[in-house]
Amino acid sequence: MEVIIAEQAGFCFGVRRALQLAEEATAEYGKVYSLGPLIHNHQVVASLAEAGLEVADEIVAVPEAAVAMIRAHGAGPEVYQQAPARGIQIIDATCPFVARVQREAAAFAEQGYQVLVLGEPDHPEARAIVAHAGGQAVIVQDCQDLADLQLGDKVAVVCQTTQHLANLQDLVAALVPRAGELRVANTICEATTKRQHASLTVAHQVDLMIVVGGYHSANTRRLAQICRATGTPTYHIETAEEIESEWLKEVEQVGVTGGASTPQQAIEAVAVRLREIAAPYQED
Ligand code: SF4
Repeated sequence: MEVIIAEQAGFCFGVRRALQLAEEATAEYGKVYSLGPLIHNHQVVASLAEAGLEVADEIVAVPEAAVAMIRAHGAGPEVYQQAPARGIQIIDATCPFVARVQREAAAFAEQGYQVLVLGEPDHPEARAIVAHAGGQAVIVQDCQDLADLQLGDKVAVVCQTTQHLANLQDLVAALVPRAGELRVANTICEATTKRQHASLTVAHQVDLMIVVGGYHSANTRRLAQICRATGTPTYHIETAEEIESEWLKEVEQVGVTGGASTPQQAIEAVAVRLREIAAPYQED
């Protein structure tokens, strides 16, 4: 059985940068509070906790005069306002591509546009973008969410960085006949697009696809969704231990990809495990 690992699988620039900042911060200060899990990967978060990075759900849960870290997903303006008042030092690991979406959303809102954020309603990145747009922006998941939405004369669209381009295209097509003036900022990050293309290419050529990454990771879930849409059976797993030998029966080629928050070691462990399980079948 051949195992094909997609190009671009694993940590993206923004996640790598956040992890490096976390390592430097814990080495310098010992205890550091991360505003939400630094990345959506339980295994990595557990190892960061051992180094001194404690998760605090929000800025009010961080003790006075402590050091707090904003993760790659970013945070709303209230965090930057509240921290100095309580003597909290902020280490900002907001991915520059996420910061760009926040700026675009804020600029559109200032110019009087009704801002639509194409994203996941409960995702911290999308919620922070809304906060930067003054709290008036609306998160839409796809064009079906437009059905009950009262649209103004001036509408602007920005995207959560992990969106799929086809979803944005569908939304824009649905908005064009309805919005008086429409501005669109395609803020899908390049790392996301490249990962999606690479995974799609592999999914088209294999019998089975394994997507590795946190169950809470939006970009990993999106990868699984995209691979599944090709018709190739696709499993989303967090660790190699979850692979079931049944999945590999009569499989000649298996593809492996991983989200932007998936460590390279986790992807390699999956490839190793797949080859181990496949070995007896090949001997038969
Ligand atoms: S997926 Fe893109 S926007 Fe998100 S952290 Fe990675 S590089 Fe930044």
